[in-house]
Amino acid sequence: MEPNPVRECQLQARRIVIKVGSSTLTREGKLRPRKFSELSRSISELVDQGREVVLVSSGAIAAGSHRLGWTHRDHSIPEKQAAAAVGQIGLVDMYQRRFARHGRQIGQILLTRGGLQDRERFLNARHTLLALLQMGTVPIVNENDTVSTDEIRFGDNDSLSATIVNLISADLLIIVTDVDGLYAEPPAASGPRPDLLDVVEQITPEIEAAAKGPGSRFGRGGMTTKLEAARMAALSGAATVVCNGRQSDAIGRIAAGESVGTLFLAGERMASRKHWLAFTAQTRGTLTLDPGAANALLSDGRSLLPVGILAVEGDFGVGDAVVCVDAQARPLARGLSAYTSGDIQRIKGIAAKEIFRVLGYSNGSEVIHRDDLVVLDD
Ligand code: GLU
Repeated sequence: MEPNPVRECQLQARRIVIKVGSSTLTREGKLRPRKFSELSRSISELVDQGREVVLVSSGAIAAGSHRLGWTHRDHSIPEKQAAAAVGQIGLVDMYQRRFARHGRQIGQILLTRGGLQDRERFLNARHTLLALLQMGTVPIVNENDTVSTDEIRFGDNDSLSATIVNLISADLLIIVTDVDGLYAEPPAASGPRPDLLDVVEQITPEIEAAAKGPGSRFGRGGMTTKLEAARMAALSGAATVVCNGRQSDAIGRIAAGESVGTLFLAGERMASRKHWLAFTAQTRGTLTLDPGAANALLSDGRSLLPVGILAVEGDFGVGDAVVCVDAQARPLARGLSAYTSGDIQRIKGIAAKEIFRVLGYSNGSEVIHRDDLVVLDD
């Protein structure tokens, strides 16, 4: 196959997040030492080339279940969390031994969505990851499964890896899984394989349809969560490649610009803080806007003033994330509020110049300043 110049972005990538799924790292729950050897060699080669790599590795629950001698899958959530605690040790131990052969130190980072929803902790995690990268070590990230309840968990490492892309401003995400990439249509149980897509410029409804169906049974996430990860990464200005871990040296070949798997092109980069606001921050309240305010936000790129707010819900403070909805409750934007929910209750519907008179202070005319706001269709 002719080299595709669009793949050049893979060669140019300096900071790379690599996500490897349980299906690649384990067989019937048992860690596959050969895969760890391959992975540590490929990653060490990239680091030797002066590139920075963060590895997001699954496999804790699978490996823990195996170590505990479990033979069936229907265990309770606390049991699976316990299995993750057991399995994570074996996982990291295996990485440490393999990377040591290449003279590389690794660092373990366990994250929850709940932790990263807090802006300060998000920035702390960034600083730690960047410090590890600067020291030439390879951070190995997984979800902190032992403390993750439904409300605070990522649930799948595809979305965790895309969050890491934004966290460290990476320029490439490689998702290593057990299918070759995205097929033009969902592969049927039998019959010829549909065409593998080489490059996806944009994630359209047709592309989303191609990701559904019986071909996506693998891993925790399936192809749909991989598309979502690619979309999030694109908005961080990063390209994504989905490839098959069975292909020999897929990572090295991707990083060399070869056509391996499916490449999803990067989009226009959204500021990291806005990306966090759109995808990671947890909203603590809702502001219902009138059509004028909705239009000012969506079409005119303006800030949110009190006059356009019809209703406020939730109990939130200054600086908390809130979602703005229209009168039909459709989400329009997310932003950081400059006023508490109680004070918005008092100033909603009034002109900005009245704020001081009503509250006895003013944090400015805007309830949400444009710089602290992201339109959800951006
Ligand atoms: N954090 C989980 C584990 O290590 C994996 C989640 C996933 O595969 O997406 O077992």
